[in-house]
Amino acid sequence: MERDEKRVSHHFPESAYSFLVSRFLADQLVRYPYPMNHTLTELTERLAVISDLHEAASLLSWDQHTYMPPGATAARGQQLATLSKLSHQLFTDAEIGKLLTVLESAPLASDSDEAALVKVTRRLYDRASKLPADFVEEFAKLRTQAQQRWAEARRGKDFSQFAPLLQEIVAMTRREADYLGYLDHPYDALLDGYEPGMRTAEVKRVFAELKGPIVALVQAIKAQGRLSDAPLRQPFDEAKQEAFALEMAQAFGYDLSRGRLDRTVHPFAQSISKYDVRITTRYNPEYLVPALFGTLHETGHALYEQGVADEYYRSPLGSVQSLGLHESQSRLWENLVGRSRGFWQYAYPKLRAYFPGLNGVPLEEFYAAINRVEPSFIRVEADEVTYNLHIMLRFELELALLEGTLAVSDIPAAWNAKVEEYLGITPPDDALGCLQDIHWSMGGIGYFPTYTLGNVMSVQLFEAAKRAHPEIDLDITEGRFATLLAWLRDNVHRHGAKYQADELLQRATGSRLDPGPYIGYLTSKYRTLYRLA
Ligand code: ZN
Repeated sequence: MERDEKRVSHHFPESAYSFLVSRFLADQLVRYPYPMNHTLTELTERLAVISDLHEAASLLSWDQHTYMPPGATAARGQQLATLSKLSHQLFTDAEIGKLLTVLESAPLASDSDEAALVKVTRRLYDRASKLPADFVEEFAKLRTQAQQRWAEARRGKDFSQFAPLLQEIVAMTRREADYLGYLDHPYDALLDGYEPGMRTAEVKRVFAELKGPIVALVQAIKAQGRLSDAPLRQPFDEAKQEAFALEMAQAFGYDLSRGRLDRTVHPFAQSISKYDVRITTRYNPEYLVPALFGTLHETGHALYEQGVADEYYRSPLGSVQSLGLHESQSRLWENLVGRSRGFWQYAYPKLRAYFPGLNGVPLEEFYAAINRVEPSFIRVEADEVTYNLHIMLRFELELALLEGTLAVSDIPAAWNAKVEEYLGITPPDDALGCLQDIHWSMGGIGYFPTYTLGNVMSVQLFEAAKRAHPEIDLDITEGRFATLLAWLRDNVHRHGAKYQADELLQRATGSRLDPGPYIGYLTSKYRTLYRLA
């Protein structure tokens, strides 16, 4: 998994359950005949068991990517497949559909947790039930094969090795969209799996607004000259990198009594449950950036999971469904806080205490280095400004693949042409081009847009928090993050999956998804940094 990829694990209901049921019983006992209470109890109990299976699978998956000895790979694959099959069987049981139908006819208050539970479960149930079991199994096998072939092809820098399997993935993805159903575009059905309620047309609208200003900004920066990141490229002791990153994660509010930081090859955050949210990172002893900003990023994901309301535990409401919202939290802490000048006013003296080699580097020089803009080939290493162009080109190619206007064999040429157009550079090989991401080999067409949607949401939310608490900027310069975290807890984290992103944004910020604030943030920050007119 890529550095900025959250491991997606959908936990379904169970422990919101005791809370929900007791409250439901208290509220409804007078008005409802007994069977209605029984129906909710029955549903939440079933969902709770499924949630436990998901949690067990999450832990096995975390172990697989951290400490599992390599000889256990096949056995672990089998264990995960069995758990996945079991939970899918339990979740798509016709009885769950019946329980939902009964509850859907109950006059639950529209903003109640009970109504949200029924709505969220129905959405997941329908998605899971629409895919025939043999299709799910066939697709899972294809993905396993495709991931292996993708890794080989990437090592060999040869897309043609991967192309036949990607061709099959695209064909199965089209079938998947047909099974799931859609109104306007097959991409809608896929996107909905990562960003519930989001439509392709909306992504196009947002990306179209972003593209012009970002391309213009990249060009202006390019014309202006370069900032140096030399201060970040010197020996940095790994143990000290770890200690500093962890100190910052804890300062943000990451609760280590319910979390831990480990090493991995491709960093990720994994929520086993809200009581056990783990983050991982990797260290480069000659380069400060990957471990430091990777940890701050995963901390943002972890704060979200740790902040979900206790009463949603073991419930689908406890499992955040919007990857855009999830990414908004990682980007907020990594970039809006972690790459801000104010944050380093507080953090730079601490960093220098760990690494006295930075004593000769003024704060301004360090701040410029961590915000250096440089068109590059690899998405996960891209700076804040160019990052979104990497996402846009993937989105455009995915649409063309699904629409049949782009043949799989033509991907490398199409990819390179877009990189040239947007970034002004040409990938020297497929490993630095169209083979760099694991997503397509995992059948994850429709995932990429959530990264940029997360960027957009992050600024909307951050600005709303600062409108409510103007002291947040000053707080950050003094290492106080509690007010910001509390606002995010109240307005985002605690709601879990209760609201789709559009509704949550409206409630928290007063606006729908709007790229304006994000464009304003990028333009203002980088005009100042690069002294642009
Ligand atoms: Zn992320």
